[in-house]
Amino acid sequence: MARAASSWHGLRRRVQLVCFLIFVALPFLNVIRADIPRQRFYFAGYELWISEFAIIFFALMFLMFLVVLASVFLGRIFCGYLCPQMIFSEAATWLETWLKRKRVAQARLVFLTATAIASSGLAFIFISYFAEPSLSLFGTSTAAGICGAVVTLLTFLDFAFVRQKFCTAACPYGYLQGLLADDRTLLVQYRDPDHACIECKKCVRVCPMEIDIRRSPFQIECVHCGECIDACDSIMTRLDKPNLIGYTFGGFRDAKRVVVLAVLLCYAGGLFAALAMRREMLVRIDPVRETLYRVGDDGRIYNRFRYQIDNRSRKAGEMVFSIHQLPGAALAMAPNPVRVEPGKSRRGEFEISRPAGKGGELVTHFTILTATVPGQESSEFPMTFLAPGDKP
Ligand code: SF4
Ligand code: SF4
Repeated sequence: MARAASSWHGLRRRVQLVCFLIFVALPFLNVIRADIPRQRFYFAGYELWISEFAIIFFALMFLMFLVVLASVFLGRIFCGYLCPQMIFSEAATWLETWLKRKRVAQARLVFLTATAIASSGLAFIFISYFAEPSLSLFGTSTAAGICGAVVTLLTFLDFAFVRQKFCTAACPYGYLQGLLADDRTLLVQYRDPDHACIECKKCVRVCPMEIDIRRSPFQIECVHCGECIDACDSIMTRLDKPNLIGYTFGGFRDAKRVVVLAVLLCYAGGLFAALAMRREMLVRIDPVRETLYRVGDDGRIYNRFRYQIDNRSRKAGEMVFSIHQLPGAALAMAPNPVRVEPGKSRRGEFEISRPAGKGGELVTHFTILTATVPGQESSEFPMTFLAPGDKP
């Protein structure tokens, strides 16, 4: 009984469908997305503020080294199985071929119209990675809308005319892969020690990158899609001979891979630690020193302070202020606790007073305490209280 031919094609189509759905869903689920107008970065469900540099840095470095690790181990398999550019290029080629085969009237016009409609949808999803997804992205009255129109045009030109030529001529990931790959990286390789190749060239005809894998396994254009493996296997199965083309993998125990893996784990650890130390309510307090102090009608000495509270969570929160280590001090602040709506900042000023008179010092060190309600995340702010000093 003849053996069953390989079907990387079927696996690839299933993976591509899942990737397409993930590509569409990610910005709407805030798994990974930047919101440039609002200066926010979304990662794994966290809404990060642009000021949270440490987390954003670790997240970006982690993702970058994840790509590097995948490239070192698996070569351009990302291009063949996961990349939206490849998925849509192949879809455009399939649609164009199908329309011609079915002899649809005005096939070229139908193809261009369908590509234009799909391009506007894809541009909407792409721009949603950088701005809040909304219908305003379809207009040209906002910067995001203008970007959407430009991306729509570029997407249309890409999938109508360029397609896989982009992968070989312009894609920076392709060039990066050329630097990272070595003889241990996953390859698609042609081996024919028994000279069994019948020169049918089916492997060349099915290649979406229009290359002949028999020339070399190190052709930068090869996206490791496996179409040539299936093509050759379908021929060799009929001849009851072993496939001449297949994936080969050189292993992963060498210094380069260990170093890349170690760096990735370091960034993953840094990211985990930064997320664990993250505070949802962040407060800053500074003294207002335009006036060092004032003497009130009640004879007390007043110092003024300003605060800013950032509520980086998705629910409203309150922060309560109190004073420590300043005898006789009173906090003149309304309201206290201060309520801050989710995703908003609130700024304000308050005064702290203490009695004047003997025993007063020019500079007294004390602490302002803040605590969130609910949650009771507390912070301490060492401060100085300025006073005119003892009267002679
Ligand atoms: S050579 Fe084979 S694996 Fe490489 S791109 Fe062409 S069909 Fe895909
Ligand atoms: S499909 Fe196989 S047999 Fe046909 S040309 Fe390619 S390597 Fe040779």
